[in-house]
Amino acid sequence: THPYDLIIVGGGPIGLACAIEAKKKKLNYLIIEKGAIVNSIFNYPLYMTFFSTAERLEIGDIPFNCLAPKPGRQEALEYYRNIHRYFNFNIHLFEKVTEVQKTESKIFRITTDKNFYDARNVVIATGFYDIPIEMNVKGEELPKVRHYYKEAHEYAFRDVLVVGANNSSVDAALECWRKGANVTMVIRKNEINNRVKYWVKPDIENRIAEGSINVYFESNITEIRENEAEIETPDGKVTVKNDFVLALTGYRPDLTFLEKMGIQLSDDELKIPQYNAGTMETNVEGLFLAGVVCGGMETHKWFIENSRIHANRIVDYITSK
Ligand code: FAD
Repeated sequence: THPYDLIIVGGGPIGLACAIEAKKKKLNYLIIEKGAIVNSIFNYPLYMTFFSTAERLEIGDIPFNCLAPKPGRQEALEYYRNIHRYFNFNIHLFEKVTEVQKTESKIFRITTDKNFYDARNVVIATGFYDIPIEMNVKGEELPKVRHYYKEAHEYAFRDVLVVGANNSSVDAALECWRKGANVTMVIRKNEINNRVKYWVKPDIENRIAEGSINVYFESNITEIRENEAEIETPDGKVTVKNDFVLALTGYRPDLTFLEKMGIQLSDDELKIPQYNAGTMETNVEGLFLAGVVCGGMETHKWFIENSRIHANRIVDYITSK
């Protein structure tokens, strides 16, 4: 078979942005996405609101209409589906890439759970939302412990521990409390994270101050059992009654997947993949990174607004070669 000019792994906003540029330059490209189109956003909490304004989530210069100051998940799904309707991408959905190997003829062989393909260039735009960062405590495998939060209803009138102090944890804690859950937050540091959306931060701080939401600062969960949990606090160990644990302790990119392709990661705990910031090419010639996957464990570093430009860098470089 004839090799593609470019295969894009991941159909998130940045994978789609790469496809738009490839299409403009008339490259023979294919996007391979393991789930639905913009699968990470599909898996967000149902009622989440972006920290970005609509304009900053736009790709391909297509306007994103939104009445509220910030769009939510549903509007973003609407927008990115319309992007596909407009550009009519060459995309395979529900097909997972399992291996990317460079052959001796400098062509990449991309293996999926359904097929294999050849390409001269490959972009990895796989994001970071598929692997939760675990707490590594006893009882974490119980079904009442969740690393993804969808909506509050099932937590109503129950004792819920929310672990973490970032946007995901704060949004979940507030929603669950408003739907009648008894919420206790377990926070490693002594404050709510500064990256929490500026209009949400006072809300959570006031709920904590008035005692509506309980909190253990400088604390860690040490064990989870069927009906209770143990928390290590500055005042010693406490045992609390518990029905659910929302462990929203962050997510990380599939670093093993990157390493298997030969991409080098930094030696420190950040595990930042090696790439040229001007072209986005990794240490493997013809293999590129785009979007939030570029940050390694620094998952807050890249987002849509500051990484959509990766698409132009990559395609400009490929077409100039
Ligand atoms: P993703 O959107 O994660 O896309 C990666 C895609 O690759 C996924 O669809 C995944 O299914 C697919 N994939 C992964 N592995 C494979 C494989 N092996 N084979 C095939 N396909 C694969 N960013 C903002 O800019 N503004 C915000 O307000 C914002 N809010 C956020 C709120 C939440 C709750 C979360 C979790 C993140 C938020 N982000 C926000 C970050 C946001 O997720 C990213 O900016 C955006 O999704 C990054 O796009 P991406 O294309 O790089 O990665």
